[in-house]
Amino acid sequence: MSDESFDYIVIGSGSAGGVVAARLSEDPGVSVLLLEAGPVDNDEMIHMPLGFSTLFKTKWDWNYETTPQKHLAGRRAYWPRMKALGGCSSMNAMIYIRGNHADYDEWRDGYGATGWGFDDVLPYFKKAEGNTRLGDPFHGSEGPLHVEDPTYAHELSTAFRESAVASGLKHTDDFNGAQQEGVGTYQLTTKKGRRWSVADAYIRPAEGRPNLTVRTEAFVTRVVLEGNRATGVAYSRHGEDLVVRANAEVVLSGGAINSPQLLMLSGIGPGAHLREMGIDVAVESSGVGQNLQDHPVSGILNYTKDTSDVAEMLGLRNLVRWRAMGKGPLSSNIADTGAFYASRDDLDLPDIQLHVAPTGFHDNAMHEPVRRAQTTAVTLVNVQSKGHVRLRSADPTWHPEIDPGYFDDRADLDAMIGGFRRAFEILSQGPITKFLDAPWIPASSDPTDDDIIEAIGRLGQTLYHPVATCAMGTVEGSVVDPELRVHGVESLRVADASVMPRVPRGNTNAPTIMIGEKCADLIKETS
Ligand SMILES: Cc1cc2nc3c(=O)[nH]c(=O)nc-3n(C[C@H](O)[C@H](O)[C@H](O)COP(=O)(O)OP(=O)(O)OC[C@H]3O[C@@H](n4cnc5c(N)ncnc54)[C@H](O)[C@@H]3O)c2cc1C
Repeated sequence: MSDESFDYIVIGSGSAGGVVAARLSEDPGVSVLLLEAGPVDNDEMIHMPLGFSTLFKTKWDWNYETTPQKHLAGRRAYWPRMKALGGCSSMNAMIYIRGNHADYDEWRDGYGATGWGFDDVLPYFKKAEGNTRLGDPFHGSEGPLHVEDPTYAHELSTAFRESAVASGLKHTDDFNGAQQEGVGTYQLTTKKGRRWSVADAYIRPAEGRPNLTVRTEAFVTRVVLEGNRATGVAYSRHGEDLVVRANAEVVLSGGAINSPQLLMLSGIGPGAHLREMGIDVAVESSGVGQNLQDHPVSGILNYTKDTSDVAEMLGLRNLVRWRAMGKGPLSSNIADTGAFYASRDDLDLPDIQLHVAPTGFHDNAMHEPVRRAQTTAVTLVNVQSKGHVRLRSADPTWHPEIDPGYFDDRADLDAMIGGFRRAFEILSQGPITKFLDAPWIPASSDPTDDDIIEAIGRLGQTLYHPVATCAMGTVEGSVVDPELRVHGVESLRVADASVMPRVPRGNTNAPTIMIGEKCADLIKETS
């Protein structure tokens, strides 16, 4: 072990880790080290909302891939994850959504996550939030995470919202208030039309503190254990292998793929699997890497007429406008409009979310329009299918095996079919119809169930929300307790999307930031 030591070592500077490091270092009496595998977030495409998908498969991306997915026509699904300061908050589509209140009550009641019901977590959402329009009782306006209405509006999005209202959905100007269901414009984690990541909101404002050390390009290879106590972290940086000691605690915030991978590399995980990989078992924990859930999404794409496509607006004039004022199409997050509804009449809560884009978004990208198009992306937010993350090697540089098991549970496919049918109802009436030229995918605007299943097989992909691989709770298979401490290990917590015992009904950035906020308080309370 090296001589270097810090009170707290946080692994990963993403949506949770960046928050934990910044909040812990508010106490000048403790020292904090934040280790991040990626570099500083110094690329204009990170900060330009419309640029997010240009980061895919570049040096900024961990560039993961799933196992072949039976229900995606045998394809491997590509999973982008950001490798840079701010983690996925520096790459995501910036939609500010918390999920349904019932999701958190289910964490508490269904998994033994005491202290994580909606009434418990609301203060942490509000503590994080700096909303420019909405206030009490559901919103915070003083927090570091800037949340605002989009600065750019496309006529296709407006028309879609009006058609959805004509079809019977209620208009909402707050998906995160008393009720989630309805159609509306998403609020975004941007500030004056520029991305506002956890690096912007938390890390940079804290970086000047003498008690916070932020080390980028530091690839952590394992947590060092002495007996069943975490005492430090091994990492490599610029060709050197290093070890640093933690006087108080290690907080693992590597995200839903890397956190279970790092636990297993450190000897914490399912015993038989670790032995198969040649890793000594330090602490048997059957749930590590299990329980993986993600939101699958598949688009309804239509060719359009008498309107524009954001993919054709990438010229110099708009770049100058965005740089000077944070306005225009380059400030668009592509999917500024959304809806939540139930796929069946007998459901009490929404299980479908729409992401609506004034372009043809498929294969994880906006494409140069050969023909102009519009996308209504149907997303399943209450999934039954589960998968896993497993090691493929004891070498930390190898990508783990990722199998989300998309649609392995038939109920998920049925819910998607119901979701598609409701979306087609919206697209068949009101102002949107005057812009729709011809169906693209599926090839009919009145498809059979088999047509829909075929379209999902062809276009189905991740909405980028993997969670639950280090699930919190007290039930069988839980990996961390409600204080986020790894069961069976001292001085080691996990704080990131992996601790959610069940994926919430909505995008996962704000919930992960909330987890970071609550983790910091839990540590402060026990130190
Ligand atoms: C393309 C995309 C679009 C999305 N869109 C939205 C959206 O619009 N709204 C929304 O709410 N959510 C969205 N999400 C999801 C959301 O951003 C994530 O759920 C959230 O950021 C996850 O946070 P995390 O802290 O769990 O992990 P991350 O933010 O991924 O942080 C993990 C960090 O740990 C670092 N790390 C990992 N392993 C190591 C290691 N071995 N050593 C050192 N560092 C390591 C990583 O580089 C990374 O910085 C999107 C995600 C993606 C990828």
